[in-house]
Amino acid sequence: MPELPEVETVVRGLRQPLIGRTVTGFWFDWPRTIGGPDPDQFAARVQGQTFKRIERRAKYIVCHLDDELLIVHLKMTGRLYVTPAESVQNDDRWMHFKLSLDNGHELRFSDARKFGKVYLSQDFASVTPGAAKLGPEPLEDSFKAADFHARLVGRKTVLKALLLDQSFVAGVGNIYADEALFRAKLHPLRKADSLNVKESARLYKMVREVLQAGIDYEGASISWYRKPDGTEGESQKHFYAYGRDGQPCLVCGTTLVKTRVAQRGTHYCPSCQPLE
Ligand SMILES: [Zn+2]
Repeated sequence: MPELPEVETVVRGLRQPLIGRTVTGFWFDWPRTIGGPDPDQFAARVQGQTFKRIERRAKYIVCHLDDELLIVHLKMTGRLYVTPAESVQNDDRWMHFKLSLDNGHELRFSDARKFGKVYLSQDFASVTPGAAKLGPEPLEDSFKAADFHARLVGRKTVLKALLLDQSFVAGVGNIYADEALFRAKLHPLRKADSLNVKESARLYKMVREVLQAGIDYEGASISWYRKPDGTEGESQKHFYAYGRDGQPCLVCGTTLVKTRVAQRGTHYCPSCQPLE
């Protein structure tokens, strides 16, 4: 699933083709892609609105229109791209939603597995139960190591599960959780409240570092994720842990292992990340 760096890259790639454009048409063929309101209302309300700003919150793409927010969650396989109306793209075979724009282009949403959602809403927090409970944005300047530590205190959860919890910090998923734990030299099964201040400061720093590197490399194209221009991100070429089970650790040479934590494949180095 696209995580913070992938969604941030999509947001950045959509600004140029969308900001200033006005919606002139609406189409869908899969009702469950429309998270709300119902498609008739959605069509009536979205037409005539202009894209003002596009931002990211956690793993959501948040487009500020004149009167409302157009919010997209890519989930597993969602892709957004802007293309001339007459052009035919490879991804169109999975297209389930599109908006026509006043310059003859279209914003298209393809989603092979159809878990993705598009919402039109007055406010962000009401779109899903999870949206209201999202934790802080880890890359915001206002989010400090002390805040991170304060959120860890009293949490009995294992670190991998905690990092995946969107109410703890927003935007981290399976890939960047494994990368952050590797770089922080912390075992995925360490209990959160067993970390001392120094260890939690290290994890805080590494969470931010791996997410920022992910953005700098424009996301990880290991499965479905593509940038809005259709090209791949490069982040996957720089992983230390994720997907490297059976291969030597790039730091110590020990063979990396894969296990399951919180129902997710979890990659780590048994030497660099001891379970103390
Ligand atoms: Zn190692």
